[in-house]
Amino acid sequence: MSSFVLLWFDVEDYITPQSDDALLWLLRSLSEMGVPATLKFVGERVRALQNRGREDVLSLVRQCELFDVGYHTDMHSLHPTVAEYLEGLGWDDGVAEFERRERDGFDCIRETFGKPVICYGQPGASWAPQVYGALHRLGVPIYLDEGGHVGIDGTPFWYCGILTIYRMRRNCTRINWGEQNRLQAAIERFEQLRGMMADKDGVISIYFHECEFSTAEFWDGVNFANGINTPRENWRMPKLLDPDEAKRRMDEFRSYIAHIKGAEGCKFIRGSELLELIRDEAPGRQYSLDDLTDIAKAFSECVSFQRLGRVWLSAAECLFLLVRWLNAYCRGKFLREIELPLSAFFGPKRRYRGIIGQVRLSCEGILKACQRLEEHMLTDRFIPSDVEVNGVTLSPAQFAVACARCVLQLLSNHTKTIEVSETMLQSEKCVDDSPAVWRWIIFPPGFYGRNITELAKLQCWTIKPAEIHAG
Ligand SMILES: [Zn+2]
Repeated sequence: MSSFVLLWFDVEDYITPQSDDALLWLLRSLSEMGVPATLKFVGERVRALQNRGREDVLSLVRQCELFDVGYHTDMHSLHPTVAEYLEGLGWDDGVAEFERRERDGFDCIRETFGKPVICYGQPGASWAPQVYGALHRLGVPIYLDEGGHVGIDGTPFWYCGILTIYRMRRNCTRINWGEQNRLQAAIERFEQLRGMMADKDGVISIYFHECEFSTAEFWDGVNFANGINTPRENWRMPKLLDPDEAKRRMDEFRSYIAHIKGAEGCKFIRGSELLELIRDEAPGRQYSLDDLTDIAKAFSECVSFQRLGRVWLSAAECLFLLVRWLNAYCRGKFLREIELPLSAFFGPKRRYRGIIGQVRLSCEGILKACQRLEEHMLTDRFIPSDVEVNGVTLSPAQFAVACARCVLQLLSNHTKTIEVSETMLQSEKCVDDSPAVWRWIIFPPGFYGRNITELAKLQCWTIKPAEIHAG
């Protein structure tokens, strides 16, 4: 069993020339040590390197096979940041807006380094779900960052069909420079993690910024804190690290990385290698009647992602299988194998709360609705925001419960009316709606992504754990 260590860097300080040297030192150290890493670049950071003639840095990233590149937005903390400009938008216009604002920086990174952009991660706490729609269009397969907005604590997961390393909690670790005996403390934390993972495969996420080895304060905090946009001509340099402290940090970083490299059962991997280890095996597979029964039983109590053997299905995938089977039944076919299509489904774009209290529905009404819904899901790929059955408008979660109960009745030949009451998509609990997840010094005071949180919950139809199937 192995711990796969994803070492990643947010390379973002486009203000401080000394951060170029820190980056060069980092890249050289990693290549000397033979340690692979994933480098998430800010578009303006790459332009700054070009403008300062740092071909030494750029060519090292371009040529060294140890380095994958990722994207970390075009301007990072310049306002409006990602969540600030997406908060007022819905799904489709949000996806288009992200692409409109971020495409240049994305292209700059892809063209400068001549490598595929393997991942994206947001600046600070500036997370938003519409980004996932845009990542499909840009061909970026991984979301890599750390934060609290969404996740299945400590484990990689699928969200909107994108492999996501986020909210890793204790499985995300690093050296905290402000801590006493920081190197020793960081190694102890790592060893604890390794001990907990001894009997299974797992992912450990470790991140740093290039500027942690050059500046004593963050470059963006001094220019863009609390919603302020300092004009370019007035950008201030952050305080530089005392040279002794910089040297100490570099030595400790190398010792930390060397320790992990030498630890038994641990392996550093790049983002692209993670894609080999974690593949979504659910789509394109055939599901048996037993599988369908398991889903229906689970769904009639709780609408959420489900495990079937070694495969995880999102709530959306489960709903599709129920709908497909019911639709076939309606057309006189009794399916013993049900196939899930290859491309990902998305959650609804808008919230409809559904009926209050209880309602009784006929099996025929549900079957009829399934005829429309299978076609809709296959062409649109989004779950509709509401579904009408016998003139009653249900939320998608209520409809999912109705489908599950209908399947169970048809399989046991006891058809009576089906009762549905208020219900929610349980996997929505994977979204944290507390204000704490929006804590970031750069946001305007009091910023809270209310609409973003709501859209994030709707997309929890797509969430499910992502497991390593090594060997
Ligand atoms: Zn950043």
